[in-house]
Amino acid sequence: MSLLVHKYGGTSVGSPERIKAVAEKVKASVDAGNQVVVVVSAMSGETNRLIALAGEMSKRPEPRELDVLVSTGEQVSMALLCMALSELGQESRSYTGAQAGIRTDMSHNKARITDIDTEKVLADLNKGRVVVIAGFQGINADGDVTTLGRGGSDTSAVAMAAALEADECQIYTDVDGVYTTDPRVVPNARKLAKITFEEMLEMASLGSKVLQIRSVEFAGKYGVALRVLSSFADGDGTLITTDEENPLEQALISGIAFNRDEAQITVLGVPDTPGIAYQIVGPVADANIEVDMIVQNISGDQFTDFTFTVNRTDYERTFEIVSGKAKELGAVDVSGRTDIAKVSVVGVGMRSHAGIASVMFEALAKDAINILMISTSEIKISVVVDEKYLELAVRTLHEAFELSSPVEVV
Ligand code: ASP
Ligand code: MG
Repeated sequence: MSLLVHKYGGTSVGSPERIKAVAEKVKASVDAGNQVVVVVSAMSGETNRLIALAGEMSKRPEPRELDVLVSTGEQVSMALLCMALSELGQESRSYTGAQAGIRTDMSHNKARITDIDTEKVLADLNKGRVVVIAGFQGINADGDVTTLGRGGSDTSAVAMAAALEADECQIYTDVDGVYTTDPRVVPNARKLAKITFEEMLEMASLGSKVLQIRSVEFAGKYGVALRVLSSFADGDGTLITTDEENPLEQALISGIAFNRDEAQITVLGVPDTPGIAYQIVGPVADANIEVDMIVQNISGDQFTDFTFTVNRTDYERTFEIVSGKAKELGAVDVSGRTDIAKVSVVGVGMRSHAGIASVMFEALAKDAINILMISTSEIKISVVVDEKYLELAVRTLHEAFELSSPVEVV
């Protein structure tokens, strides 16, 4: 008998019909001999609706009250699912985060889970019940409801799986797994049977938003076997796991990730002296703006050009901060652009294989795609390109690394 945590996202519980379909899936899993804990999201659109309602009351709703409000979305789903399960003859119990023993720190709206008391949940499981838990929420030391940040139900599920030492945490969503790249850009992108936590983090942070990033980190840290699968179709989905395979058998590249949400700022001609990087990036970081790629190169004798990227939404603010600083430093000019994008090849196979970068650069060169910036890590090579070449770059790289599905012969 396996202990499984199922998590169903907003679209999977988006209507009474869908909730009934979820109940069928849960029941089938129990009938197959598993113990099942279910974590549910709010019905799709509900959290947004509640946040908008709060906005009607106040420009800055009190964080505590906002949590009281938005945590109700998940409670609707959990009760409805138990009613549907009951119709199928399956005994179940629904619990809020607090009732399920999910304790968090004190920060409202983006709380972190500190520990979980599983006693009640285990007692129910042992009585043959399905336990349905409201995702996205917990309780702090003052007894107040807290929420975990948008998309937080994934983290609730993973944390619950870790605490229960579940055999698998299954994230049911509206896609049937993790793909080599976005199928909207590359129609023959292939579903991956397996991907490592590290790779998934790179894919996720680069815009493949299948899972909340924090939940993947959590699963990696606690060794929770995580599976992404469709709540609408059958199939094994994608297993996210630790990297234990023989490196020689490992695929070189698991996927091509990309992100349009990028902007670039260049400070031209600053004196090439110690502390320059700190003086430029420091004030940006102080403003809580995340700097991603950084390139510095010497121009002429005593001057250097300094280029970095930030999230596109932070562009204006960053430009202002850097412009002020550049004047102080006696820079020649500050320029920037928001029509750029980042493309990355991701794969743990890179660790044991040389030459990935040259394959990547050659492929881009063949299509005359100009590389504006490059950065590398142990399992990723990223380039910044003109946004208008983004899709071409993704397709080219997908092909160069032979990531597509085998062609079906009819
Ligand atoms: N309902 C919450 C949200 O929309 C949590 C979740 O769906 O994971 O962000
Ligand atoms: Mg969600």
